[in-house]
Amino acid sequence: MPHTCRNCKRTFGTELELELHLDVCSDGQLFCDDCGERFSERAATEDGWHYRCPNEDCDGSGIGEDIHNVSDARITN
Ligand SMILES: [Zn+2]
Ligand SMILES: [Zn+2]
Repeated sequence: MPHTCRNCKRTFGTELELELHLDVCSDGQLFCDDCGERFSERAATEDGWHYRCPNEDCDGSGIGEDIHNVSDARITN
C-alpha cells in the first residue's frame, strides 16, 4: 500500500520516504498541537487569519495557539 502525502498527494513506497518528504514538503508547513497532524496553510485557513485544524476529529484552532508553524517549532526544540 503506497504512502501518500496528505498535503501534496505525492505517493511513496515506504513510510520512511514519506517521513523524509514531510520534512521538506512545502505544502505542509503547519502542525496541530492537539492531534499532531501536519497540513498545509491552505488546508487550515481560508482567509489567512482564522486557522483551524483540518482534522475532522480535532477542534484545534488558532495560529500560535493550537496550530504552529513547523519552522518555528524547530527553533524551540
Ligand atoms: Zn508533500
Ligand atoms: Zn488537530
